[in-house]
Amino acid sequence: MLNQAKTILEQTFGYRQFRPLQQEIIANVLKKNDTLVIMPTGGGKSLCYQIPALIFGGMTLVVSPLISLMKDQVEQLVALGVDAVFLNSSLSFEDYQRNVARIRRNKIKLLYLAPESLLSGKILTLLSSLKIDCITIDEAHCISEWGHDFRPEYRRLITVRGKFPEAVCIALTATATPRVQEDIKANLKLDNSNQFIASFNRENLFLQIVPKDNPLLQTIEFLAQRPKQSGIIYCFSRRQVDELTDALAEEGFSVKPYHAGMTDRERKRSQELFIKDDVQIIVATIAFGMGINKPNVRFVIHFDLPKNIESYYQQIGRAGRDGLPAHCLLLFSYGDIQKIKYFIDQKEEKEQRIAQMHLSALVSFAETIVCRRKPLLNYFGERYTIDNCRMCDNCLAGKKPLQNITIAAQKFLSCVVRTGELFGAHHIIDVLRGSQGQKVLKFQHQNLSTYGIGKEFSKRQWLHLSRQFIQNGFLEQDTKTGSLRISEKAKSVLQSGEKVFGHLVEEKADFRKTPKSEQEYDHSLFDLLRKKRKEMADSANLPPYVIFPDKALIEISVYYPQSEENFLQIYGVGRAKFSKYGGEFLTLIREYCEANRIAEVGRHQRKSLKNRTKTGQKPRHTVIGEMFNTGISIRKITANFNIKETTVLDNLYKFIQDGRSLNRADEFKSLSSLSPTQQTEVLLNFTKLGVEYLKPVFDEMDGQISYDELRILRLFYLSG
Ligand code: ADP
Ligand code: ZN
Repeated sequence: MLNQAKTILEQTFGYRQFRPLQQEIIANVLKKNDTLVIMPTGGGKSLCYQIPALIFGGMTLVVSPLISLMKDQVEQLVALGVDAVFLNSSLSFEDYQRNVARIRRNKIKLLYLAPESLLSGKILTLLSSLKIDCITIDEAHCISEWGHDFRPEYRRLITVRGKFPEAVCIALTATATPRVQEDIKANLKLDNSNQFIASFNRENLFLQIVPKDNPLLQTIEFLAQRPKQSGIIYCFSRRQVDELTDALAEEGFSVKPYHAGMTDRERKRSQELFIKDDVQIIVATIAFGMGINKPNVRFVIHFDLPKNIESYYQQIGRAGRDGLPAHCLLLFSYGDIQKIKYFIDQKEEKEQRIAQMHLSALVSFAETIVCRRKPLLNYFGERYTIDNCRMCDNCLAGKKPLQNITIAAQKFLSCVVRTGELFGAHHIIDVLRGSQGQKVLKFQHQNLSTYGIGKEFSKRQWLHLSRQFIQNGFLEQDTKTGSLRISEKAKSVLQSGEKVFGHLVEEKADFRKTPKSEQEYDHSLFDLLRKKRKEMADSANLPPYVIFPDKALIEISVYYPQSEENFLQIYGVGRAKFSKYGGEFLTLIREYCEANRIAEVGRHQRKSLKNRTKTGQKPRHTVIGEMFNTGISIRKITANFNIKETTVLDNLYKFIQDGRSLNRADEFKSLSSLSPTQQTEVLLNFTKLGVEYLKPVFDEMDGQISYDELRILRLFYLSG
């Protein structure tokens, strides 16, 4: 049966391999063992019950808490050619009856229902005459009062199980807290041997936290770097959502708000525009996200501090479900901590203690100078032991060699002493940087000898330094007030000049790149494919990602498949999808390739390309050289990377210097605008004077031939 599972994975879903644990879970369900699955968002939970559902003879029931989630899942399954339906109040009478009729005729493999529907007499009667092989409880944390979305009807699901003795039960959730997990197990009577917990590390999320100094400007700068991407911005309050939405709209961004103060209709509308790629950015309070499955959310910004690590994790989890890199930016300010503290103070005493603990865990996560994945995963009881994740701000900064930061340490520590060990890092930095701020003047700190002696570093740099001083044990921080005191250890720095080493971050946070740079691909083809996909999606009234995921379009833009066989190799392209949508795409790809004289990249080549991109970033000149060798014109490469032709030529030369060869000398010849005689003369001069430097040849020809021409002919000479 496992072979069958693999075949379905490939032919129906169009995926090549199982993700971690999927295969084990599927095997367990097929053995009809009740199973609990705990996997982060984007981990691939759905396949764990969808594949068994296609293998079982009878039907699989899927209990799901939200209509939007059901709709999304069913749309995706239908696009894959799977017989799936839902029954809920959003259907018209006719559609409802039609679905019921198909269920009666045993035509349906997966039936999605809200818990209350499954508990209703009408549905139970409908199902009583049918063979039910599996009951799936999606978003199973709704069972627990300790979870964030408790749904009382979920608790009663246990009563339904007895009515379907042949059915295996699989419960799935992305909730990482042990308490909720225990609750689910107890409620559904699941035992530990049938529990599968995946790692909560989401490798493709880049985690960045920067001090919030001008949040609107910071946000605009961030967004401006990502013109075509979808993302979510989370704010603390409704008012903030509205203000930010307006401000961003004024700047010309495609943006809509989402919060509890809007009507259901308005909210639904925002959500739908976002899902259909009609709007790129949603500014939301935490209310947004649970009902969406959009896989290509490329960034999540926390404009304000989230309540605790759990909600932070849950919210960033909405980014990058498709496995492609996504950027999670948190703007961190001490003012926000005060806001949250204020809310905590309103709570009862017992709750206060817990909330405070959560908050301080969040603050130390924000302030850490080690890999952010360490405290984050540690919070969920997981140990992260890799030294450099390459996907957080600290790891990227840490890649640089340690610097001598003794003088900075002396300045900072002595300023802490001079101000009486009563203040937090922000105030110390204000004094060091010579601020005229009220607080500085009020305490007359402008008269201190340490006033204004630290202007060489930005606030961001000082903050990062101060965190290192804390982590290195030179400073102790009062957990209540945030004020800093120097430690015994600091005295040797101040008195005997002990050296301190650490990292200095860039003056300004760099929002530009989301590391683990994406695969290089043909952007013009990608844009065409995206347009086509949008047209098709609109006419079918579906979200674009249901037609093909972004990752599929990217793969197409790397490998240019022009035959059915090769198209079927593309990520996420199964048989049914191919026959529904493949034709139109193939036509587009063929026309594009013909117009640009591009050849298909074969399977074998693809494999080697793939492996290399996996093991790390290939240098750009290698990528460019390889692209050239697959038949892509220089003009295309220039457009693709958005660089000058000269740069492409230089990159190709570098490629040759690496000992590799270029296989299309004639392309260079056709680029040259020199007469054949001139060309011959240049080539002779290369033989005479060598190719390493162009100047001798340039001089030899009395400056009559431009350097660009020489670059072109040098490549011709070397690849000939
Ligand atoms: P979850 O429910 O855990 O958040 P999903 O089931 O929605 O995650 O899966 C996230 C994305 O990953 C979906 O687009 C899904 O189709 C894709 N996916 C799942 N399993 C695989 C796999 N084995 N290979 C490639 N993609 C997969
Ligand atoms: Zn890291």
